[in-house]
Amino acid sequence: MSAIEKQIPFKTYLEESEMPKAWYNLRADMKNKPAPLLNPGTLQPMTAEELAGVFCDDLIAQELDNTTPFFEIPEEIRTMYKMYRPSPLCRAYRLEEALGTPAKIYYKFEGNNTSGSHKLNSALAQAYYAKKQGLKGVTTETGAGQWGTALSMACAFFGLDCKVYMVKVSYEQKPFRREVMRTYGAEVTPSPSMTTQVGQKILAEHPGTTGSLGCAISEAVEAAVTREGYRYVLGSVLNQVLLHQSVIGLETKAALDKLGVKADMIIGCAGGGSNLGGLIAPFMGEKLRGEADYRIIAVEPASCPSFTRGVYAYDFCDTGMVCPLAKMYTLGSDFIPAPNHAGGLRYHGMSPILSQLYDDGLIEAVSVPQTRVFEAAEMFARTEGILPAPESSHAIRTAIDEALKCKETGEAKNIVFGLTGTGYFDMVAYEKFHDGQMDDYIPTDEELAVYRAKLPKVEA
Ligand SMILES: *Cc1c(COP(=O)(O)O)cnc(C)c1O
Repeated sequence: MSAIEKQIPFKTYLEESEMPKAWYNLRADMKNKPAPLLNPGTLQPMTAEELAGVFCDDLIAQELDNTTPFFEIPEEIRTMYKMYRPSPLCRAYRLEEALGTPAKIYYKFEGNNTSGSHKLNSALAQAYYAKKQGLKGVTTETGAGQWGTALSMACAFFGLDCKVYMVKVSYEQKPFRREVMRTYGAEVTPSPSMTTQVGQKILAEHPGTTGSLGCAISEAVEAAVTREGYRYVLGSVLNQVLLHQSVIGLETKAALDKLGVKADMIIGCAGGGSNLGGLIAPFMGEKLRGEADYRIIAVEPASCPSFTRGVYAYDFCDTGMVCPLAKMYTLGSDFIPAPNHAGGLRYHGMSPILSQLYDDGLIEAVSVPQTRVFEAAEMFARTEGILPAPESSHAIRTAIDEALKCKETGEAKNIVFGLTGTGYFDMVAYEKFHDGQMDDYIPTDEELAVYRAKLPKVEA
């Protein structure tokens, strides 16, 4: 099977002129809408006025809009997108050959920008709207560092100040990530810190804690609401972020249509759900409207299994409980994956949009242990050449597993997965894997029950 005989190119790029001109809002086609964010005090849906102190006005409008199917992408954002988009849809010929599968494997590669991930798609949009509103700057949290990097870049492009609260363990393990952010002009603070009241409180209660995304969110929100001209921005989970990330799916669909290929299944890793929500958006739209059917698979770490072992309930988005409540598949806002967990995707909850779709049986979810994820990452690096992010490698794992099932049944299915980014800053994790020092700690039911018991009591 020589690749040259095949009809489909290794890489399919759209023309710049074929890039999406509007984001697609999947909620418009959902019969069961995602549940609204609730005010933690009144337990009533958050209004635009209540959100206005935290988020930018245009982003609030996007967050609350469940009916408008398309939002035009402002020309300024499209111009920035053109610096690294359209991104290629690649055919994994060498991986297919190594697996000996009749399946055809495609991946949408979002790692071709300095942030190393898809997160720049939403960072640019959020920075643009903050600037448009005349704000001075934005605050945010970052875990592994991709979101902080993406936002730092976007703020540099649009001339905004950027304050990043970085989970302390990542700050210490990934000093170069911090330096990249500072290169783009961001101020980076390890979280929890003494610079916020919530940080001081968390440190008093848990001295020596290495932090979590939930803590860093609380600090970033406080830093925004206590400063004139600042708002808070978030890189995943929220409806607005999935909206921006729909560029991934719209481009993927356009490229597949160009090739005359119909996907059978679409696979993505799921942390807070933004890349998966964006990748599947137009396909799920067709599914919801009854125009086509696809298998859609969310892949999560076995050590942080929000979909497969969480509950669908209202929960806090952060540890300090300063954010609105969101109804989502969650492990509980205090849940922190075991310290040996290396692969990102550590958020305790999941996008409300994806949570509703999962609850409606429209998407499937699987969880995979991290050593199997790194095995897949290594195989992918050795065949396709790209060094994948551990997060993305969850999707690679499941794509490989599905391709191997096709080998057994002899079916030549079209498998599409999202390759969300590159793993150059994750070499400590790769090193642990290569040295045989990585294990697969999976939380017990008893452990998960402890966190679940602390969910806020809200009638859904
Ligand atoms: C942040 C990140 C993810 C997970 O976030 P989602 O919001 O679930 O998409 C996946 N891959 C990479 C490379 C990331 O940086």
